[in-house]
Parts: sequence; structure tokens; C-alpha cells
Amino acid sequence: MTRADTNRLVMKFGGTSMADLERIRRAARIVAAEAARGKKVAVVVSAMAGKTNELVAWTDGVGAAAPGLYGDGVLSDDEYDVVVASGEQVTSGLLALTLRNMGLKARSWMGWQIPILTDDAHGRARIEEVPGDALGAALDAGEIAIVPGFQGVTRDGRITTLGRGGSDTSAVAVAAALGAPCDIYTDVDGVYTTDPRIQSRARRLEKVSYEEMLEMASLGAKVLQTRSVELAMHKRVPVRVLSSFIEPDENGNLPQHAGTLICDEDEIVEKRIVSGVTMSRDEARITLLGLSDRTDAPADVFTRLAEAEVNVDMIVQSQARTEGAVNLTFTTGRRDARRAAELMTAAKAEIGFEELRVDDDVAKVSVIGVGMRSHAGVAQTMFRALADKGVKFQAISTSEIKISVLIDSDYAELAVRALHAAYGLDAED
Ligand code: ADP
Ligand code: ASP
Ligand code: MG
Repeated sequence: MTRADTNRLVMKFGGTSMADLERIRRAARIVAAEAARGKKVAVVVSAMAGKTNELVAWTDGVGAAAPGLYGDGVLSDDEYDVVVASGEQVTSGLLALTLRNMGLKARSWMGWQIPILTDDAHGRARIEEVPGDALGAALDAGEIAIVPGFQGVTRDGRITTLGRGGSDTSAVAVAAALGAPCDIYTDVDGVYTTDPRIQSRARRLEKVSYEEMLEMASLGAKVLQTRSVELAMHKRVPVRVLSSFIEPDENGNLPQHAGTLICDEDEIVEKRIVSGVTMSRDEARITLLGLSDRTDAPADVFTRLAEAEVNVDMIVQSQARTEGAVNLTFTTGRRDARRAAELMTAAKAEIGFEELRVDDDVAKVSVIGVGMRSHAGVAQTMFRALADKGVKFQAISTSEIKISVLIDSDYAELAVRALHAAYGLDAED
């Protein structure tokens, strides 16, 4: 954080927490409770639940492909962002009006008014700079600032959006600019050992390290956008994930609500080997059958993919039936798969392979925990648990603090539950 101000606070409310006027009123009461205890508050809001999907569908309806979504490398239409950024404008105005009607001083600040400066990668823009002075001065003057999440502006004045789930990143960026901590209010009361929608025995984590949260987010736990965790880790912003399903009491005080704190590893006393299990269906598997066993053939494949900015995750090479040939399998995000397949097919003769297969009926299931650095047997537990359920894995990738396996997508939820139990994460009855 640039300058810690313990009196400043950024609060973010997600789509479900802003879904209708009653929810907006409840969010306003939570904001008012923080203001009443002396906090200088900036609030970052999402569009009403479902709104962004509707706006995206409208842009599809007039023929504008969401940038990058189809992996064609075309940076699309800045007008896509003009449409999809509007959902957050509506909720920020509504929340400001609600707070004013409660007798509080509040105003909305559009992305371009702060400004939240981004690059020009429309539909998935990255924040470059957020000057906190004007916003900070408004807070210091006793006004609650309401900021639409998800939206930014390029240096030449065009509206951008930060990619789906991007309001989390807006909130952390505003918190960093204000030197404030960031409370993320959502429809669960914290970060759980796995998605509570998949495993009802998932447990809330009191604290989780930035590093673990970063892996969890990027491996499928959509409770926070990956970039928001990256930014929080980089700028050292303390982030809490909290439930918005709470009510201040008759004196306007918020009930005790612990949530989950995302913080430095050394602030965590409880030592766990595995902190979380995640699942992602955003995967595709591409196999080049009968690839020449020339030593530089894989290098040729991965250079072409890298040059086209296709991220490859897992890689497996096995012996092919034909003499002098191998099968090379790799995974990419689903949206990059088509582009990867086209690139390979276009260079088939130069690379030298017989057949290409693309399969997106796959899922990646991962276990994450900083305790893996110092414990043996973590992988063995994973393979035993999967084998006991008859789940076959097709590829593996590891880092210092995670192990991921690629499996048939039909088994994804079964695998999550099996691993959750195997690492002793299930809550007792
Ligand atoms: P918001 O609209 O507030 O941004 P999201 O829908 O983006 O909320 O994120 C909250 C959802 O994330 C939860 O409803 C939950 O189903 C899902 N989720 C996935 N993994 C986890 C996890 N490990 N802990 C908590 N929630 C999780
Ligand atoms: N409204 C945007 C979305 O649905 C951003 C967000 O909610 O974080 O992706
Ligand atoms: Mg979200």
C-alpha cells in the first residue's frame, strides 16, 4: 500500500449483492454503518446480477464478438466496452441516490472521472494507474464515493472493461490508490476450502495467503478475479471477503462477521498442508498424433503458440504407434483452443504430424497449499483418492504450492469432493 490510512475503507459489492433495489438498500445500510463508525468510505459496485450477461448478449446480437473471446487475436471493438460497462453505471447511481435518501453525502465517480487509466485491450483491459488524490479529497471532506467496478478509460478517453469479474480488481486498485484496506462483500461469507456449491462440507478459511489465493483464483475459485489478488499481493492491500447477507442492528452496528482475510503467509498461525481444492472447466486438450520425433519438433510447436500469445498449461508426450513418431498433448484455456488448433493445422506440413484432436470435455482439478513446500506425500494422497473413485487423469502439472490434474469433465465434481475428504478438509457434522 502506498500510505496506510486506517480510517479509509474500500467496500465492494458484487452482482448478487446489488441484484435489486432491496439488495441495494441493504448494501447502503452496511455502508452507512461503516460511515457511522468514522470510516471514510469508497464503494465499488458491480452491475445487477445477470445484467452484464444481458449486455454481452446484445453486443453478440449486433455482431460484435467479445474481444479475445474467440481467440482470433483481434482486439475488438471499443464499442463492446461502451455497452457492457453501462451496468455498473446504473448501480453506482442507484446506490448514491439511496445513500442520499438516507441523509448521507454521496456521489458517484465514473471510471473516466477518477480516472481509472487502463491500456487499450478492450474487453480485458489492464489497469495502469489510478490517481487517488481527487477521490481521497472527497472522502476526507466527508463524502462517500461510489465507483462503478469493471470499467476504466484509456489515455485517449475511450471506455474500457477489465474482463469478467473485474470489479474485484477495480476495488483493489482503488484501495491501493487510497491507501485503504479492501472489503469484498459477496454472496458467501468468505473463502472456503472449496466452492461451497460443490461441497456443502467446505469450511471457511479464517485467513489465506496471497499466494494460495492467487493459485486458487487462477485455478477456478471465482470468488475473486485473479488479477485482483495479483494486485493486492503486489501492492500489499489487505483484502477481506465478507457476506453481504447481514443487517446492521437497531443502533446501526454491523454484526460480528469474520469472513476471510487474505494476507501475508507469516500472519497465518494455523499450518495446513492443503488449503483448497478447485475445479476449472475452462480447459481444452489438444493432441498432435504422430508428431515427428525430431528433437526440435516440440520447440517448433510451442514457439508458434507463444508467438500467437496462446498460453499452454499442461504438456504430455508419449510414444506413438508409428515408428519415429510421438503423440504430443497440451492444454490451453478454452477460448484459445480454436486459435491453437488453427495455427497447428496451418503449419501441419512444416511441423510434421499426422492428425490433430481437440477435446474440451475436460476439467482441471487442483489442490493448493503452501504446506506442500515442506511435506512429502501430497501427490500420493491425490492419486490414491482419484484411483479409489476410478477417476483417470490425462495430464498433470505442478508448482511449488499446487498440483493439478486434467480429467474427464463428467468426473470433476466427484474428484473435488474426493480430494476435499482425502486432505481432511471436510467439516464435521
Ligand atoms: P460476486 O457477484 O459477489 O462477485 P461471484 O459469483 O463472482 O460473486 O463469486 C462468489 C461465488 O464464488 C460464490 O457464490 C461461490 O459459489 C464461488 N466460489 C468458488 N470457489 C469458492 C471458494 N473456494 N470459496 C468461496 N466461494 C467460492
Ligand atoms: N459485472 C461484471 C461481470 O459480471 C464485473 C463484475 O461483476 O465483477 O463480469
Ligand atoms: Mg465476482
